[in-house]
Amino acid sequence: MSMTGESWVTTTFDTLEDWAARNSFWPFPFGTACCAIEFMSTVSSHYDVSRFGAEVVRFSPRQSDVLLVAGTINDKMGPVLKKIYDQMAEPKWVISMGACACSGGFYRAYHVMQGIDEIIPVDVYVPGCPPTPEGLIYGILQLKEKVARDREHQRRMNRESKDQEKTQSVNTGAPTV
Ligand code: SF4
Repeated sequence: MSMTGESWVTTTFDTLEDWAARNSFWPFPFGTACCAIEFMSTVSSHYDVSRFGAEVVRFSPRQSDVLLVAGTINDKMGPVLKKIYDQMAEPKWVISMGACACSGGFYRAYHVMQGIDEIIPVDVYVPGCPPTPEGLIYGILQLKEKVARDREHQRRMNRESKDQEKTQSVNTGAPTV
């Protein structure tokens, strides 16, 4: 993105789309224990997560793009968590907040999941028991960077596959679309 003067901006559509994607998370808080209280603190006025474009909290997986798992997940809850993840549309991301969600925490017990990555992919792990609101905000900032990197990577892959198609069609004489 380049800025010229004070009143107008020039950019490409891709850059604009990237900027919007990484600054408009709609989190679904899957809060089961004390970590959820830290999440509430993060979205409240003192920490004000809306400064980072992530305050549109939704309790419907179909309206969310970030699954924020905050708390202990026992094996009985596993299928529920997986179903909610599956119901979210792509692109979607997962933040595992706190020691319990990341690794089972201090619950070394047969009925507690030893990390939600046993059943769903995790993009960002926020450590701590409890993790601080600052820690969660840092996690959200890390996710923004990951989204930007993933989108850039996807575009590069698309360009390369188009180039390959062109090269193949030149070699074989087949028409390109
Ligand atoms: S990590 Fe700590 S604060 Fe978070 S749910 Fe587990 S016990 Fe509670």
